[in-house]
Amino acid sequence: MFLKLHLADLEGAKKVMPRYFRILDGEEVASFLKSKRYPIAIDFGSPEDVLWEEHDKIIKSQGRASELTENPQSSLLDLKLKLSRHMLASCDLCERRCEANRLKGKKGHCGVLQSKISSEFVHWGEEPELVPSHTIFFSGCTFNCVFCQNWDISQNPKGGNVMSPRRVAEIIERRSETTKNTNWVGGDPTSNLPFILECLTYSNVNTPQVWNSNMYVTEKTMRLLDGIIDVYLTDFKYGNDECAKRLSNATNYWEIVTRNHKMARAQCEMIIRHLVLPGHFKCCTKPILTWISENLKNVRVNVMDQYRPEYNAYEHEELTRKLHKNEFAAAFDLAQDLGLSITD
Ligand code: SF4
Repeated sequence: MFLKLHLADLEGAKKVMPRYFRILDGEEVASFLKSKRYPIAIDFGSPEDVLWEEHDKIIKSQGRASELTENPQSSLLDLKLKLSRHMLASCDLCERRCEANRLKGKKGHCGVLQSKISSEFVHWGEEPELVPSHTIFFSGCTFNCVFCQNWDISQNPKGGNVMSPRRVAEIIERRSETTKNTNWVGGDPTSNLPFILECLTYSNVNTPQVWNSNMYVTEKTMRLLDGIIDVYLTDFKYGNDECAKRLSNATNYWEIVTRNHKMARAQCEMIIRHLVLPGHFKCCTKPILTWISENLKNVRVNVMDQYRPEYNAYEHEELTRKLHKNEFAAAFDLAQDLGLSITD
């Protein structure tokens, strides 16, 4: 029998996300603060491959607390920022791999050059374990979802406001007094990774960092996020490449997104969202939930029922209506039968 969770299953969340709750209780330090305290001796003028080698060596050895020091001259976070800026010169932050030189004003598929913030506020509509959450919405996206409910933001990279990273860090500090985390979202945050890392170089509050993304990022981007992000809040949309191409204009979706979910889980804790689409149970919902149950242990899963036709959804027959109750019940029951830790 279908039963939607109405109360925050915080005990379930604490089991699956113990580190996140320890950070909230002040018993643990957020990952980015550790990266700020990890001293780097290498010359930042070294060739890029040498910098990557150093970066990966340190990531593998993370956790040696004795090596952390307050205010090192150069830190692991500085190195990550440096590498992310290198990536902008031939952009491969996401798997579109446009190779646009964004440093010289060339736009890639997402159209993002300078990071623009469309809004930032205290969000009460996220999962119970996350709220109140300080959401920072970037303009632009690496996807073109026909049913996007934020299409006015995601498909308009020119919208929003330019803010300095130092100013954003000040806002994060102020918001952290009343929120549980910093939640980087959009559109999608991927195109803005260097900006986000720079914001964090100015931030010193012990606040968990949430990466709220479609996860269509390259392995290099995943490596840079390692040691920065505390919770991946992912949007797992499609169970096959055909639906991803038709509805989000994304190729090779399944291989990329499943790879990144595995990488994300190896790095830290996760909440996986799946918006159930009308008529997509067999092709998307079932393979996604089954794959999660077989490949990712101890993750939270949010099976979402709030689909409504928006933007260009009316061009696709099956997306012109809301979800039927029995469609959502089938998805939710499957998640329960698979033993997933469900949040709402
Ligand atoms: S982030 Fe934008 S410019 Fe860079 S690869 Fe992705 S779509 Fe292209």
